[in-house]
Amino acid sequence: MSWYSFRPYVSVAERHRKAEAAAKKLVKKSGRSLAPVNLASRKIATTFWGKAWCDNLEAYSDFANRLPRGRAYVRNGSVIDLQILRGKVEALVQGSDLYKIAIGFSPLAAKRWKDFKTRSAGKVTNLLDLLQGRLSKDILADITARDAGLFPSPKEIDLDCSCPDWADMCKHVAAVLYGVGARLDEKPELFFTLRGVDMQELVTAASTTATTPIASTPAADTALAGADLAEIFGVELEAGDVAAPTVEAKPPPARPAKPIRPRRALARRKPSKAKAGDALQKPRRARTRKAVLVAEAKVPARKAKKK
Ligand SMILES: [Zn+2]
Repeated sequence: MSWYSFRPYVSVAERHRKAEAAAKKLVKKSGRSLAPVNLASRKIATTFWGKAWCDNLEAYSDFANRLPRGRAYVRNGSVIDLQILRGKVEALVQGSDLYKIAIGFSPLAAKRWKDFKTRSAGKVTNLLDLLQGRLSKDILADITARDAGLFPSPKEIDLDCSCPDWADMCKHVAAVLYGVGARLDEKPELFFTLRGVDMQELVTAASTTATTPIASTPAADTALAGADLAEIFGVELEAGDVAAPTVEAKPPPARPAKPIRPRRALARRKPSKAKAGDALQKPRRARTRKAVLVAEAKVPARKAKKK
């Protein structure tokens, strides 16, 4: 008796290697590299956008029964490439073979987006809070509301897989749907790309209703938020950390050499010569000013004394 009578065994590692080689060939044509879904723990998603994505899918009975079969696949690294684009997700999943998955998403209906912007006006103060889900409970509930929120329903999702046992939802598609949740943990801004809307409009809408209709500072603020965002999420990505970005964001370490004087100078500068366009054309100056404001916020804390 020997093990030779069994069919040839191909290790998981070997299958992964083969699939990866095949996948690399496939994406090479498009001039990019593979973007695999690698979970840092058993949890598929840990941040607001990632978790809300998964919760939304599981909330629909159409999906709830079929999704679980994708969990093991996404956890063991079978989703070897996943791209979130405007209105679609393209992915490669390694099963007994390498399969191509394409999932189409209808763009968020214009009226739904417009209504949401109206309801959220003045409540989303910057991009970083939006992307880290640091918003009021009301807004978070609004975002995830089943019919009026921003997440897609099954009827807005069009599933397709190249595998032979393709039914309504095979395990490859299910794995990719979960993979999107994992990807949103790292890059929550892709949610808005996928839904075909501009997330900046939420912040701009908030600021313009709160102040004057001439939007000068909001543009500088959003530009700044974008820069911080890249720093914060970039750092976390390189660290390969599980750490949820919901933990408070640290401001850039760089401090202005003279924290007090420039602040006063800027604060008291008369707007006579500074036109609205200035803020747009000089993001660096706007950034310095914001850094100073951060420093300013810290001053009272330092002065506080024990009695
Ligand atoms: Zn399939």
